[in-house]
Amino acid sequence: MIADGMGFNTMIAADYYQKGKTNAQQYQSFPIKYAMSHYPAKTGSYPDSMQWSSGYNPKAMWSDFNYALSDFTESAASATALSTGVKTYNNSIGKDLDFKNLVHITQIAKRMNKSAGVITSVEWTHATPAGFVAHNVTRDNYKQIAYEMLLESKLDVIMGCGNPDYNNNGASSHNTYQYVGDSLLWLGLKAGNTIFYPGGITADTVEDCNGDCIWDSWTLIQDRSEFQKLITGDTPLRVLGVPKVFETLQQSRSGDINANPYVIPFTTTVPTLAEMTNATLNILDNNPNGFFLLIEGGAIDWAAHLNQKGRLIEEQIDFNNAVDAVIHWVNENSNWNETLVIVTSDHECGFVWGPGSGPPATFNPIINNGQNNLPEFSFYSNEHTNSLVPFFAKGAGSEIFVLFADETDPIRGRFIQNSEIAQGIKAIWGENFFTDHIHFLGLKVSEKYNFEQNSTNSYYSTTGRILNPQIKSFLSLNIFGIYE
Ligand SMILES: [Zn+2]
Repeated sequence: MIADGMGFNTMIAADYYQKGKTNAQQYQSFPIKYAMSHYPAKTGSYPDSMQWSSGYNPKAMWSDFNYALSDFTESAASATALSTGVKTYNNSIGKDLDFKNLVHITQIAKRMNKSAGVITSVEWTHATPAGFVAHNVTRDNYKQIAYEMLLESKLDVIMGCGNPDYNNNGASSHNTYQYVGDSLLWLGLKAGNTIFYPGGITADTVEDCNGDCIWDSWTLIQDRSEFQKLITGDTPLRVLGVPKVFETLQQSRSGDINANPYVIPFTTTVPTLAEMTNATLNILDNNPNGFFLLIEGGAIDWAAHLNQKGRLIEEQIDFNNAVDAVIHWVNENSNWNETLVIVTSDHECGFVWGPGSGPPATFNPIINNGQNNLPEFSFYSNEHTNSLVPFFAKGAGSEIFVLFADETDPIRGRFIQNSEIAQGIKAIWGENFFTDHIHFLGLKVSEKYNFEQNSTNSYYSTTGRILNPQIKSFLSLNIFGIYE
């Protein structure tokens, strides 16, 4: 679960408003708690201003107030690192520094015959969900990303905004089709098609998501009641949920953007992130092999960019409620020996600190004004920062992150890298997909060992040859394949 743009102080500000104190959220009691760095391989912006990152320097962070304000990641590069285990350049969607396709954790899940989904409170083609599914040189190519997510991926669930038939208040309107591909794709989805004509000429089809060699069409849902209906009972095979709103569930609605939380009424015709979460869990849990799900609180970042205190807290609480929904689901429908839950962020945004903070190096805490009262804090930036973010984990395999927490910050303590989350999940799953290590194994590159797991722990190459035990034991060393 990713709270886009959430730093430690974003979380604490919402804690004070929601609970009157911090460390009272269920996830804040998870047994694995660290900080996380998220700098990309190259900062700046693709394609014109890319430069090598200088990483994260704990000494500089706390001796120079302005240190964190430059050289930061954006969401696509961080999502790619979180999803593939490889740091890359800003704006990359699943591409490395040489623009080669990386393998997403969602792709590995599908190869393992698990289900997979991505859901968000912003557009479903936006940087974070796209960065767990698609491959594109830049996050700005929404149309291409939409086509890849819907027609090339085998995902079971995609949910998020971008509905071209509605405005930011949920009223009928006409907006750009770019976040849902184009008008042809959108009309085809509404009709439940399996065959599409990108650009109106070449035929393309949806994928088979469950391995029965039959194309699986997307079931498009839009009404809040349709999301709510999926929380219990039988569910369709594949669901694309696009609420009747344009950019975000709530953060972009009109009204005083400086109002305190909840003063401007919510749009009631769209689901909450927790409702989307519960519906998605009910779809994905149909698969006995398990699933991977990305849940993004996407508009925390948007409120932070715009320095909207009230909406920042609304969005953080919407995310917190989704985390509670997941924890409840694990307790009721699964258990912590088989399910891993990770709660983190992709980067900080807005440089949230208490009043009177500033250069050279004054970092004042946020002032708590009690439950349902806005705490006192300021935004010292309208951009992302290089500040460490929180990382919480509980459940199956979560101990592996103890190994990754090998760096230490004087204030935040031990921290991991964003790229180590995908590395950890791959290690926990014990699956290794690789092409580059073929040479080392003395195998022919042409055989392209993209392993398909036909039965538990039996590795087959695409040519059908069963790998010998020596190679299998090599695989168990977890030399990860990173390229498609
Ligand atoms: Zn941002």
